[in-house]
Amino acid sequence: MYEQLIPCDHCGGRPTVGRSQRLVSKLPNPQFDYTEWGRMSGPPRIGDRLPRPPEVPKTEPLVCIYCADCGMQTPWEATGRDEKVAMDRCGAVWNRRLNRPAAEKTELQRLVEREMGAADIPAVLELLSRTDSDWEEMGPMFAMIARRLVDATIVTFDSWAIDPVLNDAARYRKLMQLVKWVEIDGERYAQFPKIYTPAEHNEMLFEDRIATAVDSMPDRDRW
Ligand SMILES: [Zn+2]
Repeated sequence: MYEQLIPCDHCGGRPTVGRSQRLVSKLPNPQFDYTEWGRMSGPPRIGDRLPRPPEVPKTEPLVCIYCADCGMQTPWEATGRDEKVAMDRCGAVWNRRLNRPAAEKTELQRLVEREMGAADIPAVLELLSRTDSDWEEMGPMFAMIARRLVDATIVTFDSWAIDPVLNDAARYRKLMQLVKWVEIDGERYAQFPKIYTPAEHNEMLFEDRIATAVDSMPDRDRW
Protein backbone atom coordinates (compact mmCIF):
# COMPACT_ATOMS: atom_id res chain seq x y z
CA MET A 1 0.00 0.00 0.00
CA TYR A 2 2.84 2.41 0.81
CA GLU A 3 3.73 2.68 -2.85
CA GLN A 4 0.13 3.51 -3.73
CA LEU A 5 -0.17 6.41 -1.29
CA ILE A 6 -0.07 9.83 -2.86
CA PRO A 7 2.35 12.42 -1.44
CA CYS A 8 0.83 14.96 0.96
CA ASP A 9 -1.62 17.28 -0.78
CA HIS A 10 -0.61 20.13 1.48
CA CYS A 11 3.20 20.09 1.33
CA GLY A 12 4.17 17.19 -0.96
CA GLY A 13 5.69 15.32 2.00
CA ARG A 14 5.89 11.61 2.53
CA PRO A 15 2.91 9.77 4.03
CA THR A 16 3.94 7.63 6.99
CA VAL A 17 2.16 5.10 9.19
CA GLY A 18 1.51 6.43 12.70
CA ARG A 19 0.72 4.21 15.68
CA SER A 20 -0.80 5.04 19.02
CA GLN A 21 -3.42 3.85 21.50
CA ARG A 22 -6.54 5.14 23.24
CA LEU A 23 -8.78 4.06 26.07
CA VAL A 24 -11.28 1.40 25.06
CA SER A 25 -14.08 2.26 27.48
CA LYS A 26 -16.16 5.34 26.72
CA LEU A 27 -17.45 5.51 30.29
CA PRO A 28 -15.10 7.11 32.77
CA ASN A 29 -14.14 5.00 35.72
CA PRO A 30 -14.63 7.18 38.81
CA GLN A 31 -12.01 5.19 40.69
CA PHE A 32 -9.30 6.17 38.32
CA ASP A 33 -7.24 9.32 37.83
CA TYR A 34 -7.04 9.97 34.07
CA THR A 35 -4.57 12.82 34.12
CA GLU A 36 -1.61 10.68 33.20
CA TRP A 37 -3.10 7.96 30.94
CA GLY A 38 -5.49 9.14 28.22
CA ARG A 39 -8.68 11.21 28.35
CA MET A 40 -7.34 14.10 30.42
CA SER A 41 -3.95 13.94 28.75
CA GLY A 42 -5.40 14.75 25.31
CA PRO A 43 -5.94 12.89 22.02
CA PRO A 44 -3.74 9.93 21.01
CA ARG A 45 -0.15 10.95 20.27
CA ILE A 46 1.73 9.53 17.31
CA GLY A 47 4.30 7.03 18.53
CA ASP A 48 2.65 6.40 21.92
CA ARG A 49 3.14 2.63 22.18
CA LEU A 50 4.16 2.58 25.82
CA PRO A 51 2.50 -0.40 27.54
CA ARG A 52 0.13 0.76 30.29
CA PRO A 53 0.44 -0.59 33.81
CA PRO A 54 -1.95 -3.53 34.35
CA GLU A 55 -4.13 -1.65 36.85
CA VAL A 56 -5.10 1.22 34.53
CA PRO A 57 -8.08 1.15 32.09
CA LYS A 58 -7.41 -0.87 28.91
CA THR A 59 -6.30 0.79 25.67
CA GLU A 60 -6.62 -0.37 22.08
CA PRO A 61 -3.91 0.05 19.42
CA LEU A 62 -4.53 2.61 16.67
CA VAL A 63 -3.06 3.43 13.30
CA CYS A 64 -3.24 6.47 11.04
CA ILE A 65 -1.40 7.86 8.03
CA TYR A 66 0.27 11.20 8.59
CA CYS A 67 2.57 13.50 6.67
CA ALA A 68 6.10 13.26 8.03
CA ASP A 69 6.72 16.90 7.07
CA CYS A 70 3.62 18.93 7.95
CA GLY A 71 1.79 16.50 10.22
CA MET A 72 -1.47 16.38 8.26
CA GLN A 73 -3.18 13.20 9.44
CA THR A 74 -6.06 10.83 8.75
CA PRO A 75 -8.42 9.99 11.62
CA TRP A 76 -7.20 7.19 13.87
CA GLU A 77 -8.41 3.68 13.06
CA ALA A 78 -8.54 0.94 15.71
CA THR A 79 -6.39 -1.92 14.42
CA GLY A 80 -8.74 -4.66 15.62
CA ARG A 81 -7.50 -8.09 14.64
CA ASP A 82 -5.68 -7.10 11.49
CA GLU A 83 -3.45 -4.06 11.48
CA LYS A 84 -2.90 -4.28 7.72
CA VAL A 85 -6.65 -3.97 7.08
CA ALA A 86 -6.83 -0.89 9.31
CA MET A 87 -3.83 0.58 7.48
CA ASP A 88 -5.61 -0.04 4.17
CA ARG A 89 -8.63 1.88 5.50
CA CYS A 90 -6.39 4.80 6.50
CA GLY A 91 -4.67 4.65 3.13
CA ALA A 92 -8.02 4.90 1.33
CA VAL A 93 -8.94 7.96 3.41
CA TRP A 94 -5.55 9.51 2.77
CA ASN A 95 -5.79 9.12 -1.00
CA ARG A 96 -9.43 10.25 -1.04
CA ARG A 97 -8.54 13.57 0.53
CA LEU A 98 -6.59 14.61 -2.49
CA ASN A 99 -8.64 16.22 -5.16
CA ARG A 100 -7.12 14.62 -8.16
CA PRO A 101 -9.50 13.67 -10.94
CA ALA A 102 -10.21 9.97 -10.82
CA ALA A 103 -8.53 8.52 -13.86
CA GLU A 104 -9.95 5.54 -15.63
CA LYS A 105 -8.49 2.38 -14.17
CA THR A 106 -7.25 0.27 -16.99
CA GLU A 107 -5.33 -2.89 -16.31
CA LEU A 108 -2.12 -1.19 -17.39
CA GLN A 109 -2.69 1.75 -15.10
CA ARG A 110 -3.36 -0.50 -12.12
CA LEU A 111 -0.15 -2.39 -12.80
CA VAL A 112 1.78 0.84 -13.17
CA GLU A 113 0.41 2.26 -9.92
CA ARG A 114 1.07 -0.86 -7.94
CA GLU A 115 4.43 -1.97 -9.25
CA MET A 116 6.37 0.93 -10.67
CA GLY A 117 8.80 2.79 -8.48
CA ALA A 118 11.66 5.22 -8.52
CA ALA A 119 14.04 2.47 -9.63
CA ASP A 120 12.17 2.18 -12.92
CA ILE A 121 12.94 5.75 -13.99
CA PRO A 122 15.91 4.84 -16.24
CA ALA A 123 13.89 2.13 -17.97
CA VAL A 124 11.03 4.55 -18.65
CA LEU A 125 13.37 7.25 -19.95
CA GLU A 126 14.95 4.72 -22.23
CA LEU A 127 11.52 3.75 -23.55
CA LEU A 128 10.61 7.39 -24.01
CA SER A 129 13.79 8.14 -25.91
CA ARG A 130 13.02 5.38 -28.39
CA THR A 131 9.47 6.53 -29.08
CA ASP A 132 9.32 8.47 -32.32
CA SER A 133 5.72 8.09 -33.48
CA ASP A 134 2.19 7.57 -32.17
CA TRP A 135 2.55 10.48 -29.77
CA GLU A 136 -1.23 10.91 -29.66
CA GLU A 137 -1.52 7.47 -28.15
CA MET A 138 1.73 7.24 -26.21
CA GLY A 139 1.69 10.76 -24.74
CA PRO A 140 -1.05 10.26 -22.14
CA MET A 141 0.47 6.93 -21.16
CA PHE A 142 3.88 8.49 -20.54
CA ALA A 143 2.19 11.31 -18.62
CA MET A 144 0.53 8.75 -16.36
CA ILE A 145 3.78 6.85 -15.84
CA ALA A 146 5.71 10.06 -15.15
CA ARG A 147 3.11 11.13 -12.55
CA ARG A 148 3.47 7.75 -10.85
CA LEU A 149 7.26 7.91 -10.83
CA VAL A 150 7.22 11.37 -9.26
CA ASP A 151 4.80 10.17 -6.57
CA ALA A 152 6.74 6.97 -5.96
CA THR A 153 10.02 8.83 -5.58
CA ILE A 154 8.61 10.79 -2.67
CA VAL A 155 6.58 8.04 -1.08
CA THR A 156 8.83 5.01 -1.27
CA PHE A 157 11.95 6.80 -0.16
CA ASP A 158 13.42 4.35 2.40
CA SER A 159 10.18 2.41 2.91
CA TRP A 160 11.01 -0.46 0.58
CA ALA A 161 14.27 -1.17 -1.13
CA ILE A 162 12.83 -1.49 -4.59
CA ASP A 163 14.52 -2.99 -7.57
CA PRO A 164 13.39 -2.42 -11.13
CA VAL A 165 10.18 -4.31 -11.72
CA LEU A 166 11.67 -6.50 -14.43
CA ASN A 167 14.51 -7.70 -12.19
CA ASP A 168 12.02 -8.72 -9.55
CA ALA A 169 9.84 -10.34 -12.19
CA ALA A 170 12.80 -12.42 -13.35
CA ARG A 171 13.49 -13.54 -9.77
CA TYR A 172 9.88 -14.52 -9.28
CA ARG A 173 9.87 -16.60 -12.43
CA LYS A 174 13.05 -18.33 -11.37
CA LEU A 175 11.38 -19.28 -8.10
CA MET A 176 8.18 -20.32 -9.88
CA GLN A 177 10.04 -23.02 -11.74
CA LEU A 178 11.21 -24.54 -8.48
CA VAL A 179 7.85 -24.64 -6.75
CA LYS A 180 6.71 -28.07 -5.59
CA TRP A 181 3.24 -29.20 -4.66
CA VAL A 182 2.93 -30.60 -1.17
CA GLU A 183 -0.15 -32.25 0.24
CA ILE A 184 -0.88 -31.64 3.89
CA ASP A 185 -4.10 -32.97 5.42
CA GLY A 186 -5.60 -33.41 1.96
CA GLU A 187 -4.96 -29.76 1.01
CA ARG A 188 -2.55 -28.66 -1.65
CA TYR A 189 0.18 -26.07 -0.96
CA ALA A 190 2.70 -24.46 -3.25
CA GLN A 191 6.10 -24.76 -1.61
CA PHE A 192 8.90 -22.43 -2.61
CA PRO A 193 12.46 -23.70 -2.26
CA LYS A 194 14.72 -22.93 0.67
CA ILE A 195 17.41 -20.57 -0.56
CA TYR A 196 20.86 -20.43 0.91
CA THR A 197 22.12 -17.03 2.04
CA PRO A 198 25.73 -16.86 3.24
CA ALA A 199 26.52 -15.46 6.68
CA GLU A 200 28.71 -12.72 5.23
CA HIS A 201 25.54 -11.10 3.87
CA ASN A 202 24.31 -10.42 7.42
CA GLU A 203 24.81 -6.70 7.08
CA MET A 204 22.73 -6.30 3.94
CA LEU A 205 19.18 -4.99 3.88
CA PHE A 206 16.57 -7.73 4.12
CA GLU A 207 15.28 -7.23 0.57
CA ASP A 208 18.77 -6.92 -0.93
CA ARG A 209 19.93 -10.03 0.83
CA ILE A 210 17.08 -12.10 -0.50
CA ALA A 211 17.48 -10.68 -4.00
CA THR A 212 21.19 -11.57 -3.94
CA ALA A 213 20.41 -15.07 -2.73
CA VAL A 214 17.90 -15.64 -5.52
CA ASP A 215 20.28 -14.16 -8.09
CA SER A 216 23.03 -16.52 -7.05
CA MET A 217 20.90 -19.54 -7.91
CA PRO A 218 21.40 -20.99 -11.39
CA ASP A 219 19.45 -19.28 -14.13
CA ARG A 220 16.01 -20.72 -14.81
CA ASP A 221 15.41 -23.28 -17.45
CA ARG A 222 14.43 -21.20 -20.45
CA TRP A 223 12.92 -24.07 -22.39
ZN1 LIG B 1 2.38 17.49 4.41
